[in-house]
Amino acid sequence: MKNEWTTLEGVEKDILDCTACPLSETVINKVVRKGSDEPKVLFIGEAPGKKEDETGVPFCGRAGKILDELIEYMGLESSDWAVINTIKCRPPNNRNPNKKELDCCKPFLIRQIQLLDPNLIVLLGNTAEKAYCSGHKMKWGAVEMLEGKNVLKIFHPAALIYTRSRTEDQHRFLDENRYIWENE
Ligand code: SF4
Repeated sequence: MKNEWTTLEGVEKDILDCTACPLSETVINKVVRKGSDEPKVLFIGEAPGKKEDETGVPFCGRAGKILDELIEYMGLESSDWAVINTIKCRPPNNRNPNKKELDCCKPFLIRQIQLLDPNLIVLLGNTAEKAYCSGHKMKWGAVEMLEGKNVLKIFHPAALIYTRSRTEDQHRFLDENRYIWENE
């Protein structure tokens, strides 16, 4: 990790310049972050999809609409949350990021988390867990304290597009942990 990454702007500039893995050869736009730079809640998604690649904005497609609904359900104001992805470049054909890509991009992920310094990290699905937890398996919907942070794993919004019945479980996961962001 670079010493000069003392600011969010510094990290995010280096993300835009990064050519550390082959995904940089096919990317249209790097997808860096959406939301507050002082969030209470930080969502971590998977990887940019087609729409995100075209716009450079995370969660701007159908999954983004579901994330917006979750944010509304949580009662968060726009200054309360931010969202980033495990990797910043779209994998071809929207395949899952592989381990090499996750490892290569991880210094950016970790430094963004440190500088954003949220009270709660919400991992959106298994890829976010894989990238952040380094092999540690979390239970769906249960908060754990990892590296001094409250961490919660819930379904990725894309998983709710075709299985809306999971929304009820997702709401339960959030309701059981609501005290974390509402008491801040
Ligand atoms: S995915 Fe991450 S490590 Fe790979 S080129 Fe993009 S910013 Fe760099």
